[in-house]
Amino acid sequence: MKLDGRRMSDNISDRRGERMSMAGGGLSLLRLLAILPGGIKTKLIGLAVVAAVVVATQGTSGLSGLLGLSGPQTEQRQYQGTPEEQELYEFSAQILAGTEDVWTELFERMGKRYIPPKMVIYKDAVQSGCGNATSSTGPFYCSADQTVYIDLSFFMNMKRQIGADGDFAYAYVIAHEVGHHVQYLLGDLDRIHEKMASASEKESNRLSVRLELQADFYAGIWAYHDNRIFSSLEDGDIDEGLDAARKIGDDYLQKKARGYTVPDSFNHGTSSQRSRWLKLGAHSGDLSLGDTFTPEYSSL
Ligand SMILES: [Zn+2]
Repeated sequence: MKLDGRRMSDNISDRRGERMSMAGGGLSLLRLLAILPGGIKTKLIGLAVVAAVVVATQGTSGLSGLLGLSGPQTEQRQYQGTPEEQELYEFSAQILAGTEDVWTELFERMGKRYIPPKMVIYKDAVQSGCGNATSSTGPFYCSADQTVYIDLSFFMNMKRQIGADGDFAYAYVIAHEVGHHVQYLLGDLDRIHEKMASASEKESNRLSVRLELQADFYAGIWAYHDNRIFSSLEDGDIDEGLDAARKIGDDYLQKKARGYTVPDSFNHGTSSQRSRWLKLGAHSGDLSLGDTFTPEYSSL
């Protein structure tokens, strides 16, 4: 991507110097979700490369109280990043700024006002409005505080673990999470989360796939318009994103992890679905093509 001279967003905050100490012994988010009773729901949605963490939800108030945890204590220190981390931080701030410009314009066209999300860059663990998360959660969006959370080591691991590399692949990850914020602003996130809360596990997973594919589509929409406004794309960029989308498909990840797939457990979409929706957004730039909720599930 060509990003020279592009502005960096003011909505990014660096919380890498924060160290959390948990009175309850430092539960990871995954454990937290695993031990939550079914009725408790958190507003959290992630790209889930390492683990799919999507739980429908209405509110998280009193979550730690419920679990008998006294709130985590945080301590602020100056964080010294490597030059690679600094570059990724600035890159993330530039991509976030691009999503602000693009979505502000697209919302205006719909006669709506875009309220940009915040982005928190953390290291190892973070306290979010949706509970405590660790870097193993992967990047995620929390609608309770309208914030995208990213540990930059995710980008470095993307290359090592799934062989997905390149600046556009990283931008796709950010734009996907911002896509969940767009869903939140348009009312789709809460609407689908409500449905998921009363659906069977299989149906709930399918609704999750529909949300995730639309977030992929929105990432493509962002790429199209970012390029229209700023001429940011270079040859091969979209292919890089499509390659990343394929490598975080549920089928690809499951096959890699255990040698077989369990389609009913898919909650983010297959490799071909994810790359197809990203491509549709990136090639058309047409928001009206992004309805992933109405079509038959088998035709997604
Ligand atoms: Zn997602």
